[in-house]
Amino acid sequence: MRTFPVILVVLIKNARKGWDDMVDSKDVKDLLFYERKNVWKEISEDQVSVIHDFSEGYKDFLNQCKTERECVKYIHDMCLNRNNSFISLKSAYKNKQQLHPGDKLYFIENNKAVMLITIGKDGLSEGIKIIGSHLDTPRLDLKPLPIYEDTEIGFIKTHYYGGVRKYQWVTIPLAIHGIIYKQDGTELEITIGEDENDPVFVISDLLPHLAAEQSKLTLKDAIPGESLNLVVGSVPNGDTEVNEKVKATILQLLNNKYGLVEKDFINAELEVVPAFKARDVGIDKSIVGGYGQDDRVCAYTSLMAFFDSSNTISDKTSYCYFSDKEEVGSAGNTGAQADTLTFVTEMIAELLYLNNKKETPNVKSVLRDSVMLSADVTAAFDPNHKSVFESNNSSYLNRGIAITKYTGSGGKGGASDANAEFLNSVTKLFDSTEDIVWQICELGKIDAGGGGTIAKFAANLGINVLDAGVPVLAMHSPYEMTSKADIYMTYKAFKAFYENM
Ligand code: MN
Ligand code: MN
Repeated sequence: MRTFPVILVVLIKNARKGWDDMVDSKDVKDLLFYERKNVWKEISEDQVSVIHDFSEGYKDFLNQCKTERECVKYIHDMCLNRNNSFISLKSAYKNKQQLHPGDKLYFIENNKAVMLITIGKDGLSEGIKIIGSHLDTPRLDLKPLPIYEDTEIGFIKTHYYGGVRKYQWVTIPLAIHGIIYKQDGTELEITIGEDENDPVFVISDLLPHLAAEQSKLTLKDAIPGESLNLVVGSVPNGDTEVNEKVKATILQLLNNKYGLVEKDFINAELEVVPAFKARDVGIDKSIVGGYGQDDRVCAYTSLMAFFDSSNTISDKTSYCYFSDKEEVGSAGNTGAQADTLTFVTEMIAELLYLNNKKETPNVKSVLRDSVMLSADVTAAFDPNHKSVFESNNSSYLNRGIAITKYTGSGGKGGASDANAEFLNSVTKLFDSTEDIVWQICELGKIDAGGGGTIAKFAANLGINVLDAGVPVLAMHSPYEMTSKADIYMTYKAFKAFYENM
């Protein structure tokens, strides 16, 4: 502390010395200040329509893909139909098929996680460039034995998955998506609530007239997890001996339509999601509203970027990774902690150097030479809830792809913090690519909360990884909002990463 005045004197002296060479005061704004750019102010008329067109494909993706399984199916279909040169890594490995630059592969893990691969000219010798997002979203899962009745109303019990704010899930139309195994062992895929003629499901809430006590509770406690029960029927079957006559009707209908019995629900993965369609929000249609945009907006933009750049074979091998279970800590064998990156790289290494005079590279070294964008959303500054944001370091709607150097909570706890060197190489790449608008941010105010992504699990492998993605308003709600301009900028940034990183 005692040396402080001395330093200050030196600083002022040095400053005075160069006073004449200083940037002209009228240029200070342009040359010295950092200001986020609003995409809509930067772009031409032509680009406006490109941005709107891109979001049409995205909304379609959101409507088709409300569960991780549906996303995997969509990606798999793209590999087979849009670009039929994709081959399965599993079968290539089984057949000991040697790989060459330009080869395209896909690897699907338990129908819930995917890795797409394009072999680069340098194989694995220069490391891999990876973009990784997650396909799972907060939702309500059906319990193993979900069907019951109370006071002659039929219900389905749920167990919420991920960071759900329970009060947001009552009194909205809900749909059920998923798979269920029947007694004969056949798999049945179910979607109820998406077609105009389908019924939907709803969780009830109190009327304001009788909510005096409930209204005193905190948002967290007002709707207990065990009350997230879907109304599924109300007609009793008067002809049966059983006491639960409404449940009897429901089981009869399910049996009639799908051939199901109650026990089948044990062997199932059924997810309750909002029954809304993705739509434009606002008079100017600049925003996309829809369920599951965390993190399907990054899944879609990275998928498109990967495909659209896959015909230019770059030096490094490229991966496009879609993980599962991010919303519950990336655990399980489809989560990012299952280390699909290493597993896939080991298979690629073996096949790439098969019958090749060169020595198979050490996979741990390959990963340590690799670079990755952890493609996940961040919280956009919300003018309705300013108090949780620090305005200097927030991400803002329409200011382009948001780069987050570090996530975590309570003093950057529990997350990866990207190296300045890597951050510099990524921001310089974006700066040098025409028309990319990007911004830097933190998730919110210090100690207001926090969060993490899959970045730290990649960082644990020695990969240089940086979080980047689309800012979201009302994140984790049943109807999240993103800017069409940011979606397109994220696509452009991911494409630049694949083509020029
Ligand atoms: Mn996310
Ligand atoms: Mn999330």
